[in-house]
Amino acid sequence: MTAEETSADDPTTFAYLCIGCPLGCRLEVDEDDHGDILEVRGSSCRKGDRYAAQEHTDPRRGVTTTVAISGGLWPRLPVKTTSDIPRDQVLAACEALRLVRVDAPVKMGDVLVQDLLGTGCDVVATRDMNAT
Ligand code: SF4
Repeated sequence: MTAEETSADDPTTFAYLCIGCPLGCRLEVDEDDHGDILEVRGSSCRKGDRYAAQEHTDPRRGVTTTVAISGGLWPRLPVKTTSDIPRDQVLAACEALRLVRVDAPVKMGDVLVQDLLGTGCDVVATRDMNAT
């Protein structure tokens, strides 16, 4: 989550909420005129520092959803990306996965889509689904 706090003075401060643990520390990132990070404030651990820098420069999210499956116990199969993809590609990823249909049986961990949208991330099943 971001909220830009603009100011007439440099640097520009951006606010983020760390999602690394339930504490939800409120983070601030100061950026100079060239877009470089000058300082990160508000974190209670180094994980928060890394999160703020990542979120500020290259925000990413994991995608968990379902795809259609034929011949299985249920009509939908839960899946996830093997790692986080760029946040601005999440919607396109969900739209692409909406068109995917696989056939049962499927084992948890089976790769169902390779290199989703060129992100380098695969999509895997997160449960077994036997054929009926
Ligand atoms: S900065 Fe550290 S302690 Fe704070 S919410 Fe993030 S992970 Fe948790």
